Amino acid sequence: MDVKVIHRNNARACECCSSWLKHWERIAKEDVGTCRTKNCTNPAKVGAHVKRKAGDNTWRIVPLCHDCHKQTDWLTLNKNTKSASAEQHSCGR
Ligand SMILES: [Zn+2]
Ligand SMILES: [Zn+2]
Repeated sequence: MDVKVIHRNNARACECCSSWLKHWERIAKEDVGTCRTKNCTNPAKVGAHVKRKAGDNTWRIVPLCHDCHKQTDWLTLNKNTKSASAEQHSCGR
């Protein structure tokens, strides 16, 4: 899956969970672990808002490290990466 990080000045805090990373964890039912960018082994630190190259235009959340979160180009993620909806309360809380 190829994604691009959405860089916004007015990023909204997650209202349903303590952070977007927690929100992702709740939906994916996986440990956060390492950054999901292919060949990146840094620990994931942010629940990043991304848009996907393929698929619809909805924003998704994936766990990334700080370095990858700064990228402005397309990132290739690991094949089995789960993305979570970026809608508030989509985790069921
Ligand atoms: Zn949530
Ligand atoms: Zn990374």
